[in-house]
Amino acid sequence: TTRIERHHYDVVVIGAGGAGLRAAIEARLAGKKTAIISKSLFGKAHTVMAEGGAAAAMGNVNSRDNWMVHFRDTMRGGKFLNNFRMAELHAKEAPERIWELETYGALFDRTKEGKISQRNFGGHEYPRLAHVGDRTGLELIRTLQQKIVSLQQEDKAEFGNYEARIKVFAETTITDLLLDHSAPGSAKVAGAFGYYRETGEFILLEAPAVVLATGGVGRSYKVTSNSWEYTGDGHALALRAGASLINMEFLQFHPTGMVWPPSVKGILVTESVRGDGGVLRNSEGKRFMFDYVPDVFRRQYADTEEEADRWYTDPDNNRRPPELLPRDEVARAINSEVKAGRGSPAGGVFLDVSTRMSAETITRRLPSMYHQFKELADVDITKGPMEVGPTCHYVMGGVEVDPDTGSTSGPVEGLFAAGEVSGGMHGSNRLGGNSLSDLLVFGKRAGEHAAAYADALPRRPKVSTSDVEAAVDTALAPLQRQSGENPYTLQQDLQTVMGDLVGIIRREGELADSLKRLQELKQRVANVGAVGGRAYNPGWHLALDLRNMLAVSECTAKAALEREESRGGHTREDFPSMNPQWRLVNLVCSIDEGGDVHLDRKPVPKMRDELITLFDRAELSKYLTEDELTEFDALSG
Ligand code: FAD
Repeated sequence: TTRIERHHYDVVVIGAGGAGLRAAIEARLAGKKTAIISKSLFGKAHTVMAEGGAAAAMGNVNSRDNWMVHFRDTMRGGKFLNNFRMAELHAKEAPERIWELETYGALFDRTKEGKISQRNFGGHEYPRLAHVGDRTGLELIRTLQQKIVSLQQEDKAEFGNYEARIKVFAETTITDLLLDHSAPGSAKVAGAFGYYRETGEFILLEAPAVVLATGGVGRSYKVTSNSWEYTGDGHALALRAGASLINMEFLQFHPTGMVWPPSVKGILVTESVRGDGGVLRNSEGKRFMFDYVPDVFRRQYADTEEEADRWYTDPDNNRRPPELLPRDEVARAINSEVKAGRGSPAGGVFLDVSTRMSAETITRRLPSMYHQFKELADVDITKGPMEVGPTCHYVMGGVEVDPDTGSTSGPVEGLFAAGEVSGGMHGSNRLGGNSLSDLLVFGKRAGEHAAAYADALPRRPKVSTSDVEAAVDTALAPLQRQSGENPYTLQQDLQTVMGDLVGIIRREGELADSLKRLQELKQRVANVGAVGGRAYNPGWHLALDLRNMLAVSECTAKAALEREESRGGHTREDFPSMNPQWRLVNLVCSIDEGGDVHLDRKPVPKMRDELITLFDRAELSKYLTEDELTEFDALSG
């Protein structure tokens, strides 16, 4: 028989980014025995990479800021498809979560008066991002880890064991959730099954409550800013447990990722490069962004290079350069230039600071970009242009949750989700800075409610032996097919389908084609093999991740085909505008026992009266249907 290491916990948190750590802290504070599982090294999550800051309406820099202004900005950013209750809770609770971090030992940058400083960011009406230089995510992770260590020290004092109530399982991947089906008509979480990456040994954590905090899905795309472990595991675990995903058609493509060399394709090139004067040119040397200013933005953006250039020194009397349009606009423009055959040799466009700033200024203002290009691409950005193109960056869609508790929808009980893996909060597009605050607000809530759920259970759900055996068989299957399909080839093929057919600009025919290709891939993934044994074997690990990527990609492709409009992170060439009827609709994805993906329509929850009246009619008329506007008029008298 196969050896399985068994553990018992009250709450198991899958993921050690900001959402997971904050959830774990809350569960432990509620007295629960808590496990934190992390696929990569502890501390190495996307959260650590975030630079800009965490958005919270503290009003420290501009006292007119408050939760209502933040709520409005978030709804606008998401083009009114956000779950309003999540946006409300987020705007109201973010300041408290930031202050609380300082009680854990964080130290944010300060204003002259000694308050937490806040910076401006796209889509935020007032300076709102609490930050620590350009490494806010690092401070966030560092502080949450420090808090965990201090709780472990308390436990050592009380129980003689650091890990008595909170333990971290690093480099451990969860492959399956285990459910208790003994009560008719319902399923309860009973545990999580996975393997240690180093040894390949199996681990089973029995627990009545599981919090998914596994982050994003970017690795299903050829070009992405996401690192290797972002294969949509939490999304797929939720689906297989009977929960559902919403809004999976909405992905954020950042306009500037590296495109060369192939090994670093997708790595982020910070927006500050353009903020500091970087210009975008095509292969003909043309500054093409002037051709892509949409009508709604025309009044704020320069129409000549001369005016755009003057803006950097005299912003009051000139309009902004079109390189500084919102991310989705710039990403679409670059995509069009490349498709029209005017791309750079490596399939991007040129982003140049060398002709506009001295070498000394560049290395002073953009030191990390200078090193990134020098070391990874052997390109000296003080002497020549960078090649850049859109990169898959963030998924707005995710596990459908109850806004107050983070509990997942559907028949399964005891399953919670928070952070990027959850959906609803950001609607069709996320504002920068709203992710770090999202992690704190909803991480805390999920931890709290997972603990309360575990407390209230009359009896512990039981893991069934046959389910464990099935999880073992699934995990070992690729190793028993040494000559099966190569997992790396399959991943590349999947990335090609998603990048080419379900990418930044979408069309009906291509989306329909993608679904056919995904079906073919599904058959091949069922036959995936991995060479070698169980000890540290990345090919085997990828073979196991593939079924997750595939399930999630199918949800994205299906929803993208269904939604016949363009909104936020979903652009249909054949339906180029927003349609108010579609704003009423969430696309909900689920899978059945046989693994087939289903899509359903569900109404977007209706905003409460006192929230909708925070907006003026002129703005609402861009988003709402005629019926909704009539209702609004009646409300506002
Ligand atoms: P993550 O921090 O992504 O952590 C996920 C965790 O889950 C990891 O520990 C991972 O190992 C674990 N995991 C995954 N699958 C499994 C599994 N099967 N078993 C066990 N563990 C698993 N947002 C901002 O607000 N501002 C910014 O400036 C910003 N900059 C960014 C820059 C980059 C380069 C990137 C990639 C993202 C950026 N974002 C930014 C987005 C933001 O960082 C992420 O959305 C956010 O950190 C996600 O946090 P999380 O806690 O949900 O998950």
